[in-house]
Amino acid sequence: MYFSKMFLPTMREVPAEAEIISHKLMLRAGLIRKQASGIYSYLPLGLRVLKKIENILKEEMERIGAQELLMPTLIPAESFFESGRWEAFGPEIFKLKDRSDRDFCLGPVYEEIFAETIKNSVRSYRNLPLILYQIQTKYRDDVRPRFGVLRSREFIMKDAYSFDRNQEGLDISYKQMDKAYRRIFDRLGLDYKVVEANFCTMEGSEAHKFMVISEIGEDEIVYCDACGYAASMENARCPKPEESEKAEEMAVEKIYTPDIHTISELSGFLGCEPSKMAKTLIFKADNELVAAMVRGDRELNEAKLKNVLGCRKLEIADAESVRIATNAEVGFAGPIGLKIKIIADHEVAQGKNLIVGANETDYHLINVNIGRDFDAEIHDIRKIAEDDVCPCCDKTIAFARGIEAGYICKLGAKYSEPLKCNYIDESGSERPMLMGGYGIDINRLMAAIIEKNNDEKGIIWPMEIAPYHVIIVPVNVLDETVMKIARNMYEKLIEANVEVILDDRNERAGVKFNDADLIGIPIRINIGRKAAERLVELKPRNGSEAVTMPVDEALEKILSQVKENN
Ligand SMILES: [Zn+2]
Repeated sequence: MYFSKMFLPTMREVPAEAEIISHKLMLRAGLIRKQASGIYSYLPLGLRVLKKIENILKEEMERIGAQELLMPTLIPAESFFESGRWEAFGPEIFKLKDRSDRDFCLGPVYEEIFAETIKNSVRSYRNLPLILYQIQTKYRDDVRPRFGVLRSREFIMKDAYSFDRNQEGLDISYKQMDKAYRRIFDRLGLDYKVVEANFCTMEGSEAHKFMVISEIGEDEIVYCDACGYAASMENARCPKPEESEKAEEMAVEKIYTPDIHTISELSGFLGCEPSKMAKTLIFKADNELVAAMVRGDRELNEAKLKNVLGCRKLEIADAESVRIATNAEVGFAGPIGLKIKIIADHEVAQGKNLIVGANETDYHLINVNIGRDFDAEIHDIRKIAEDDVCPCCDKTIAFARGIEAGYICKLGAKYSEPLKCNYIDESGSERPMLMGGYGIDINRLMAAIIEKNNDEKGIIWPMEIAPYHVIIVPVNVLDETVMKIARNMYEKLIEANVEVILDDRNERAGVKFNDADLIGIPIRINIGRKAAERLVELKPRNGSEAVTMPVDEALEKILSQVKENN
């Protein structure tokens, strides 16, 4: 491709809303353009990268025997009736009507569509297992789209679904997909962790998220290098608490604690460690009030509490509800005498002679003990903390931020049962197929790759997904010797299936070098003063020094480097 013919609108100044590197660079390097909030066009250079990432995905899907198909974007409401999701869809789903007033939506999820498609075509156990996938644009009306394509309202996903006869088969499909995903993330050169997740809470279900480690990630993750345990903060299990204290249980006393509302105030007032106290937090779980207790020095993990309660909505109770539940102002809630369900963390259950709220304004109780003074359901409901050890192996844990770029999930019969996606087994009886659902957000992968591979000049594409492998920069396009070598190298590289740009613009060398660096082409060939001696300069984008060499040697080097990475 001749640079002068390319549609490559680079930008000098990016809008202030571009806060993160990948968003800035995608705009500056002319990969994407914004059409509306959270909606982007991919320009030619960006699309080339996108297609290369898709190709890696396709190769790895084919390798495990998954077949590609393409479902519609516009989906009739009826498809979601049997699973009950149409009613549950909130404002995040783009709903619309056709001219006959029939309801549709822009595809946000595809479990039902896949199940519906195969249920009448695949009947026998002999046709299972089956893995199908598509690469399709999905829609979600995010309330706060940001970070460019990292959190957008329209995004391209690879979503795959496996259909198996039984749990054993599903386990195998799941493992295959897990391996394929690891190969994809490895090939893209990303640092990632596969974390435990529990977003599908079906029996026999299992789920993992593929998190790319990045400071700009919206999720916090916890991991252990010793045993490989990794989880999102929401799901991270806490290590088993130490044995309960042996201390003798003392008599409960009520203490006057005027205007003391927080743990740190209380700790200062009573002169004791927050770990000797227990916080009692009042929540509204759907429409029921519940109390949750964690040690004074710990934070409650709302996601874990929500799981324990099995509720749809969990929010901290308002002041009025707290007054109703505790007969006291906010800040004095405690477990004794509460008429609502109490969930206590393991550490609260292990602690002895704890300090808690008295359910009476301006008073706390000391020497409170679970079992003797109050009863509670005991669960792991606190957030794991920096001073904790790994829940699996007791070694040190580390924290990082991650971008969720993929998930794998055992759906079991969650969709196949209501949709009657059944098969006939060996004995002739009808049984639901067990499904797995697996997604990868391709836009996010691209942004994550740029977040990892850049410097102050621009993007540094890995060879395998670079929009072009090589850019030839004749320093002076008016010099016929220079241009002859440039054109000759260009032709030879094209013949060898190398993707190459020839920067034929009559611009200063500095401008051309800057553009080449900005768009991140892995190898740059500078042709300048030494052209008469048939010497050119090979400059890798990854920071290595430029090396002067004969034309033929440069061609050989390019071919071997491109081949090595493709
Ligand atoms: Zn560990």
